[in-house]
Amino acid sequence: MAETIFKKIIDREIPADIVYEDDLCIAFHDVQPQAPVHVLLIPKREIENVAALTESDRDLAGHLLVKVHEVAKLLNLESGYRIVANCGRDGGQSVDHLHIHILGGRSLTWPPG
Ligand code: AMP
Repeated sequence: MAETIFKKIIDREIPADIVYEDDLCIAFHDVQPQAPVHVLLIPKREIENVAALTESDRDLAGHLLVKVHEVAKLLNLESGYRIVANCGRDGGQSVDHLHIHILGGRSLTWPPG
């Protein structure tokens, strides 16, 4: 897969407002926030999207989901939040590096657009 802007963030080639990082993943504020709090949690390994995950990614996928709540707590989202992983063109994915949007800080409506 082609290198994306997120890989440049991981490699510190471009700046980002990083809120969490460990060996496997990194979380940073979205540049175009769709809610008062909008953070992206991404694996450091380049994986295109949820559809590209395989059985061998089970541990990494689990790690990401567990870290969602840890990051949400760092962001003081005690009253709730939403996670979104856009997948593919019809899913609205614009950056081809797996990412989980963590959105909160206001009451979110449903269904999304
Ligand atoms: P998606 O449309 O689901 O692929 O989400 C990609 C997200 O990445 C969008 O919400 C963008 O605003 C965000 N984004 C793109 N470039 C950057 C960047 N350099 N730093 C932080 N967020 C970015």
